[in-house]
Amino acid sequence: MALIVQKYGGTSVGTVERIENVARRVKGWVDRGNQVVVVVSAMSGETNRLIGLAQAIDPHPDPREMDVLVSTGEQVTIALLSMALQKAGCDARSYTGSQVHIRTDSAYSKARILDIDDARLRHDLNAGRVVVVAGFQGVDEQGNITTLGRGGSDTTAVAIAAALKADECQIYTDVDGVYTTDPRVEPKARKLDRITFEEMLEMASLGSKVLQIRAVEFAGKYNVPLRVLSSFDEVDGEGTLITLEEDGVEAAKISGIAFNRDEAKLTVRGVPDQPGVAYKILGPIGEANIEVDMIVQNIAKDGTTDFTFTVHRSEQEKALEILRKTAEQLGAREVEADDQIVKISLVGVGMRSHAGIASKMFETLAKEGINIQMISTSEIKVSVVVDEKYLELGVRALHDAFGLEEANPGA
Ligand code: ASP
Ligand code: MG
Repeated sequence: MALIVQKYGGTSVGTVERIENVARRVKGWVDRGNQVVVVVSAMSGETNRLIGLAQAIDPHPDPREMDVLVSTGEQVTIALLSMALQKAGCDARSYTGSQVHIRTDSAYSKARILDIDDARLRHDLNAGRVVVVAGFQGVDEQGNITTLGRGGSDTTAVAIAAALKADECQIYTDVDGVYTTDPRVEPKARKLDRITFEEMLEMASLGSKVLQIRAVEFAGKYNVPLRVLSSFDEVDGEGTLITLEEDGVEAAKISGIAFNRDEAKLTVRGVPDQPGVAYKILGPIGEANIEVDMIVQNIAKDGTTDFTFTVHRSEQEKALEILRKTAEQLGAREVEADDQIVKISLVGVGMRSHAGIASKMFETLAKEGINIQMISTSEIKVSVVVDEKYLELGVRALHDAFGLEEANPGA
């Protein structure tokens, strides 16, 4: 008997009919002798609808009330799924995040899970029930409802799997696994059988929207085997398994290409080239809780330099406002913002043992006439920022150059 935590995303529970399909699938796992905890998202579109309602009242609603509001979507689906399970002859009970004590910090809309009291879950599982838990939500020390950030139900599922030491955490979604890149951009994209946590983290953080990044971090930290599967396949496929790196297996040079259209680039020109400048520019940005991704400081000329960094597009305005103030204080020449950018990244643990990946990437982009605006590298990733209009061209050219449509690229 295995203990499985399953998570079904918004499209998988998008209609009553689909909820009944999920119930049948869950029942199948139970009938095969497994204990199952199910975590669900809100019905697709519901969270956005709720956000829209709030914004019709106030473009910047109170964060606490916002979390009270957006957490309701999941409460609908847990109840409906439990009803569907019971109708299918499967004993089931639904719980909100606070009922199973998914304790978080108080950072509304991006709360972090601190701990989960698994006693209640175990009690129901041992009584032969399927436990259905609302994803995306928790409760802080003071009893306030919190939410975990968009796509947070994945994190709920992984955290529960970690707390229960589940055998596997299965993320059911509308795709049948993790692909070498987004098939909507490159139709030759191939499903991966396996990928490491590290690679998945890069793929997710770079905008492959299959899994929430925190969920992957959590799974890696607690070594929770994570499987991405389609809830639309008639019979369960193998999906993609996300695990630790295996020793002795020759890793492919590149596992995938991620891209991210959610960033905006901010540049401050003509800042004095002195110690502390980076701190003076990025300090206030950090204090405002704005995450900075890529950073480039140009070589100084005539005692001044240009400083460029990227932030999430939704925080561009806020960051720009702060940056304008800083620029004035520093006597900088000008401040610019550009959101017509995309970040494209090659990801692969195999990079550690293969040289020349970056230069091949630059060569490939150069051949297509694509200008590179920013570059950053890590042990398992090379990223470039280019004009947004080159997204398709760039991704396809790289997919081809690194032979990703075949199972063992460039081996
Ligand atoms: N319903 C939330 C969202 O749309 C959480 C989730 O789907 O995981 O972001
Ligand atoms: Mg989701």
